[in-house]
Amino acid sequence: MHHPSVNQTNRLFAPQLNVSPRLLLGPGPSNAHPRVLQALSMRQVGHLDPEFLQIMNDNQVLLRYAWQTDNKFTIPVSGTGSAAMEATLANGVERGDVVLIGLNGYFGHRLVDMAQRYGAEVRTMMRPWGEVFTLDEIRAGLAEHRPKILALVHAETSTGACQPLEGVAELCHQYGTLLLVDSVTSLGGVPLFLDAWGVDMAYSGSQKCLSCPPGIAPLTFNERAMDKIMNRASQVPNWYLDMTMLGRYWGNERTYHHTAPINMNYGLREALRLVAEEGLAERWARHRATAELFWEGLASMGLSCHVAAEHRLPSLTTVRVPEGVDSKAVVVALRERYNIEIAGGLGELAGKVWRIGLMGFNSRAENVVLLLAALKEVLK
Ligand SMILES: *Cc1c(COP(=O)(O)O)cnc(C)c1O
Repeated sequence: MHHPSVNQTNRLFAPQLNVSPRLLLGPGPSNAHPRVLQALSMRQVGHLDPEFLQIMNDNQVLLRYAWQTDNKFTIPVSGTGSAAMEATLANGVERGDVVLIGLNGYFGHRLVDMAQRYGAEVRTMMRPWGEVFTLDEIRAGLAEHRPKILALVHAETSTGACQPLEGVAELCHQYGTLLLVDSVTSLGGVPLFLDAWGVDMAYSGSQKCLSCPPGIAPLTFNERAMDKIMNRASQVPNWYLDMTMLGRYWGNERTYHHTAPINMNYGLREALRLVAEEGLAERWARHRATAELFWEGLASMGLSCHVAAEHRLPSLTTVRVPEGVDSKAVVVALRERYNIEIAGGLGELAGKVWRIGLMGFNSRAENVVLLLAALKEVLK
C-alpha cells in the first residue's frame, strides 16, 4: 500500500475541445460528410461480432465498386494512406527486386524511401513537378530497367497533375512487371477503372475524395499481385502490415490479427455508401464541374494554374502565386479571417503555388464561390 505520492506535474485541466469550423480546401484532410461523422460516433460492437463482420464485408464490396475492381483481396488498412502505401511495398517487394518509380512529385519520393527500406533496388524516371509520363517514356523505362514493379502516382497531390493510366498495364505486363498505383487523391473523385486498366496493386486514403477522417486506408491486390505475395521466399518484414496474416482476418477464417478500428470502419462504410448512392460517374462529373467553375474563376481574377489543362486534377489544383505576393501570408489570412484552409507548395513548388483541394463532400459550387471571394479580399 506504500505507493509513491501522485506526481501532479502533468495534471493539465484542459478545456473541453471546441475546434473552429474550418473549411478544409487544402491537400487533405477534406471535411468529412456529416453522415460520416454521425456514423463514427455510434457505439462499438466487438471486432468479431457478427454485426461487425457484416460491416467488414460491406466495406470490401463497396470498395470494389469505388475502385471498379473484382479483386478478392480488397480491404481497408488500419492507418492513414501512408500505411496502405507501406503495406503495398512491404508485401509486394522482396529484397533485391528492381522497382521503377515515377518521380514527378512529393509522393514519388515517399515511394522511393519506403521501397528502399524494404530492400528494393530502386530505379527512377523523372519529370518536372506538374508534368506526367507518356506511354513512350514508360515503355523506355520498362525496357531499360525490367522492373518487378512499376509504381506511379495517379493523382499527385503535391503538383495537381493526373497521370494517365490507360495502356500502362499492357506495357508492364509485356515485361512481366506489376503495376502499382497510388490513388489516394483520385479514389472517389477522378475516373479510375482498376480492372479495365489492368492495375495490379493500388492503395488509397479515407481523408481525400472519400470525405472520411484520416485513419483507415483502402488497399487492393489482384491475382497477379497475390501470386507474387503468396510465393515470397521470405516473410513479409512488417508484422502489422503483413497481408498474408491480415487476409485471414478479412477472409473466411476471421483469425484475429489486430483489432480493427471499429468506428473508422463505420465511417468508411458511410463514406462509401455515399459514393454508391451518388454513383461513380455522377461523382466524377461533379468533381470536374466544380473544378472547372474554380478554374474559370481563377482565370477571371488573372490567376493561373501550374498544370496544363489536359492533365489537371479535378480534386487538387495548384495555383501560381502572383509576382510579389507572400504565399504564406495568404494561407494565414484565409485561415484567420475566413476559416478556410489551403496549403502552400511543397518541394520544387515551395513558395510558387498554393494547393487547393475540392474533394468529396467539399466539391461544391458554394465552396468555390466562397473561396474565390475570400481570395479576392485577401489579395487586395
Ligand atoms: C495524402 C497522400 C498520401 C498519404 O496519405 P496520408 O493519409 O497522409 O498518410 C499518399 N499519396 C498521396 C498522393 C496523397 O495525396
